[in-house]
Amino acid sequence: MENTSTYHLQADELDALFAHLEEQYLVYAPVRIPSGGRYAQTDSVLYRPVHRYEDIEYRERSTYPMKEVLTPITQTLFYFTEDQYQESKPPAKDLLIFGRACDINAIRIQDQIYLLNGGVEDPFYKRVRDRAKFVLMECAQQFEGCFCCSVGANVTDMHAMAFSFGERDAQIEVSDEAFRDYFSQAKPSDYSIRFPEENELKVNYPVIDRMDMANRLKDHPMWREFDDRCIACGSCTVACSTCTCFESTDIVYTQNAHIGERRRTCSSCMVGGFDQMAGGQCFRNKTSEKYRYKILHKVYGHDARFHTGPMCVGCGRCSARCPELISYPATLNKLSRAIEEIQPEEVAHHA
Ligand code: SF4
Ligand code: SF4
Repeated sequence: MENTSTYHLQADELDALFAHLEEQYLVYAPVRIPSGGRYAQTDSVLYRPVHRYEDIEYRERSTYPMKEVLTPITQTLFYFTEDQYQESKPPAKDLLIFGRACDINAIRIQDQIYLLNGGVEDPFYKRVRDRAKFVLMECAQQFEGCFCCSVGANVTDMHAMAFSFGERDAQIEVSDEAFRDYFSQAKPSDYSIRFPEENELKVNYPVIDRMDMANRLKDHPMWREFDDRCIACGSCTVACSTCTCFESTDIVYTQNAHIGERRRTCSSCMVGGFDQMAGGQCFRNKTSEKYRYKILHKVYGHDARFHTGPMCVGCGRCSARCPELISYPATLNKLSRAIEEIQPEEVAHHA
């Protein structure tokens, strides 16, 4: 990257750097939560404020993605009384968020939904997003189920700094001028930050560029197995770096239903009631229909609106969180095969 400088810092210098950064920034990064995992005696890795370099868990993929910081699973948007409302507090400082290339690329997709969709900006997202900068975490090793290279999410330039982690040291590449002064006393280095170039898991990511193909795929028998396999729990979407769906609920504090707060809570196209309309009408009743919708939205629907390719960064969290061991990459490969089946049929039909 042009106009970058790299520095090599030891543990004590890193502690001083973090103390210095905290004067202006709330620093968020993946942190190990002992016994916080899904099963007994397993840990989770969640985004939390960090105060020291050693707080950061860089050896594992975080259980939930970076969107935890920008759009928490539950957040209060505003408080209301009978005739007034008051917005909830914005962050007290600017945000500095550590993430991998896939995580940072996922924020571009979050931005499309919250800031560019239909010409309306979401003010509660914008007030946080405008104050956020990102720090790239170099992937020293890959994790089970990563396929960032298959969706072009392995490289980013949307970061202010990049860290290559060592046990008691770090190589730090600085690309944002605003951070240059933090390193005025640091030892320069000729280290170059590396991006993943190849994943063990390779996915033949389907390309659907016309609605009639999407409509033909809706009727394909490949979806039927998910009526038995998928339990519609929504874990895959909650853990997804790029899913954004939420619901709003007014919580009232007292018997006076005019005093309370409005909360935004993460939701999922996979759970019952998500697409229920006034009058009780629901268009996707079977689990296979919900799963099909999710997949076709990621592969086709999002791209049809924004023309920026897959609504997926290949982070692998959806498959890692699925209690039924349903593999999203395997579904994508099946979808690619279904497209290959349909195309020759169409050619024969038009011949
Ligand atoms: S669909 Fe799966 S692999 Fe793609 S961004 Fe979401 S969680 Fe990651
Ligand atoms: S996590 Fe697995 S079982 Fe749950 S909704 Fe997603 S695909 Fe279905």
